[in-house]
This record gives sequence, structure tokens and C-alpha cells, in this order.
Amino acid sequence: MFKRMQSMQMQAVHCFQTMGPNQHEYRAIIAIHNTHLGPALGGCRCLHYTREQLAFDDVMRLAQGMSYKAALANLQQGGGKSVILLPNNVVVTDINREFLFDWFGQCVEQLQGQYITAMDVGTQVSDMDVIAQQTQHVASASNIGDPAEATAQGVMVGIKAALEFNFNNTEIHGKCFAVQGLGHVGWRVAKRLLHLGGRVIVADPEEEKNWQAQALGMEVVSIDEILTQSCDVLVPCALGGVINEELVEKLRCKIIAGSANNQLADDDIAERLSKKDILYAPDYIINAGGLIFASINHCYKQRLNSNKATAEIDGLIKQKIEGIHQTLMEVFQQARLQNKNINQVANEIALKRLAEAAAVSTSSQEEGQGAGDIYNAA
Ligand code: NAD
Repeated sequence: MFKRMQSMQMQAVHCFQTMGPNQHEYRAIIAIHNTHLGPALGGCRCLHYTREQLAFDDVMRLAQGMSYKAALANLQQGGGKSVILLPNNVVVTDINREFLFDWFGQCVEQLQGQYITAMDVGTQVSDMDVIAQQTQHVASASNIGDPAEATAQGVMVGIKAALEFNFNNTEIHGKCFAVQGLGHVGWRVAKRLLHLGGRVIVADPEEEKNWQAQALGMEVVSIDEILTQSCDVLVPCALGGVINEELVEKLRCKIIAGSANNQLADDDIAERLSKKDILYAPDYIINAGGLIFASINHCYKQRLNSNKATAEIDGLIKQKIEGIHQTLMEVFQQARLQNKNINQVANEIALKRLAEAAAVSTSSQEEGQGAGDIYNAA
């Protein structure tokens, strides 16, 4: 465990345990990967894990990803993540959520702002509202709202950057897009693409969503066919790990640019995509809109309350989301110039920014100053 922490440059992993009603034992892990750019922000997953080690692996990998995502989104925010391990003998519907998230809020509070929690798989806004009764270090309670709109805006910015790099124009009109998943993000992206004159092919296991899409003029295919459609841009907005070794050979798109987290099954896939001349927009850059939204809102809503402040906050969010364009162009260009795969270049830029932030925080500590303030820089 310590070896793995060291190899991932993980700052700290905190473990918590409690006995709940009906003798249900709850455990939680909060991983703080890096706080040199600011307090660690990342969602809380609430799941059954078959083995404890899987929960540790999950939380550390995700916390590291959050550090990279925040660094590349130019946020003064660190990376962290938490998981709540549900007791294996208890079904989700039997869980006393009020107790669980009240307790988890106390765990977050103990870290005194080093970690800010948010929604993730298995948690919802109402859970965040319970947490908010125990700590102010929560970024997706109902006073902030759903980040999906901001994520979708970021995906649109990213799609246009990829089009510009590949085709020398950002025209959506006349191009073909295959959108996998019509959930909170995918539906918004698909509608925008259609509205801008794109040909939009979609797939979702939920029939109702497919009917709605068809009624608007989108083409529906089965979930087994969507990823191999002949199109300009494949837009994965459903699951992680969808681009695997077997699929790469069958892909018929020129660009992959979507919101799903961890789209590539493993790091080697980036190399294979590059050899196939498929431009890949790294997921943690293109889907950063939600993090930008949560980070800036959390930071400002704690301190400002006027209407003017709301407009100011929205302006900052918009500006940062538009920054996704420049970040992607930089990554695409460097990859081409250095003949490296895109993921490798993105990771290198993130690591460089984290190292620079570490150097600044070390020198300010030596000069007796406190850690960076996210309010100043967001
Ligand atoms: P969601 O759960 O609302 O939507 C996912 C959709 O995918 C659902 O409609 C589901 O029916 C569909 N789906 C499931 N399996 C599918 C399959 N095999 N083929 C096609 N569709 C399938 O999730 P979301 O909030 O829209 O997020 C989508 C992705 O983007 C996720 O990977 C998420 O982690 C990532 N992401 C979301 C946000 C955000 O702000 N919501 C931010 C960053 C990253």
C-alpha cells in the first residue's frame, strides 16, 4: 500500500470506520493526491466493493486523475476522491442514508478543508445536502446544482478544438457525430450538435431516450453498433473503458471526443489510436467543465452572495470552460511536433504544472506563508 502511494505520489490516504443502525458497519476512504495547487476536490463514490483492496485502488487512481484534471483546467485546486464501502450483506435500499452521509460529513470536516467532496457514482444531491449539515467542504449540494450542463459545454468546446485541428475548421454543419449514451451530458451534447446542423447518430439502452432522439431527427442505432459507426466524431458519453484493443481495429471515426471518464481501456490504446490517425481528445481535459463548475461555485458561494457575484461566477466558469479549447490545441500540437501520443503529452503537462506548484508552495512555506488560496486564482 505505501509502495503504491509512493509510486503514485499520493499525499495521504485517510480511513474511517463506524457502526451504524442495525449493526451495519460503514467504512470510508479519502485519498488526497495533491494539494499544491489548492485543496483537493473530488467526488464521493458509494458502492459495494467485493474486496477492500479494490476500493483503495479505485480511490487512489481517481484522486490522481482529479489532480491532473484540475491542473489542466488551470484551476487552483488539488485532486482527491473518496469512497464509502457499503457492507456487502446490506442492499442499497436498506441503507440509512441520513446516518451514513451525516457521518461521512464529519469525516470530511476532520480534514479541515484539505478535501472537498462532491457527487459521484452512488451519491446524489440529497446526500450532499446531508453532508453540508456537518461541513462546508462539499461542492455539489443543492445550492450549487447539477454540473452536467457545464460538462456538456466543455465537450462542445473540445469537439470544436478537435475539428479545428483535424479539418482546419470548426463547422458542425454537415459533419457526422455518433453519440454513445443519452444521459445528463450525452443528451445535451447530441441536441446541440443537431441544432448546429450536424448529422447525429445515437444509442442508449433506454428506449424512451431513443424515441425522444428520433422525434427530434437523430438516427438511432443499437448500443452494439454505435462505437463502430462511420462518422467524423465519436462522442462517448456513457461508460469507461469502451475503447479497447479489439474495438480500435473496428473504429471508423476520425476523432474521439466525449465526456465519459477513463474512455481508453489502457494506456497502450492511445498509441494505437495515434497509429490509426484517430485524434483523441483526452477525457480528463474535455470533460473538465463539471469540475470547473463545482470548483468555482464552491469557492465563491462560500464567500459572496449577491446577484452581481452570481454573474461574476458564471463569467469565470464560462472563461475557464472556453480554456479547454486552448489546452486541447496545445496538447494536439505538442503530440504532433514531438511525435508522441496525446495521452502521454497531456500527462506530462499535468505533471509539470504540479511540479511547478510544488516548488512554489515549498518556497512560500520557507518564507513562512500559508498554502495557496483557491479564491484568488479560480
Ligand atoms: P448518466 O448516467 O446520466 O448517462 C449515461 C447514459 O449512458 C445513460 O442514459 C445510460 O442509459 C447510457 N448507457 C449506459 N450503457 C450504455 C451503452 N452500453 N451504450 C449506450 N449508452 C449507454 O451519466 P452522465 O452524467 O451523462 O455522464 C456520462 C459520462 O460522462 C460518464 O462516464 C461520467 O462519468 C462522465 N462525466 C460526467 C460528468 C457530469 O457532469 N455529469 C462530468 C465528467 C465526466
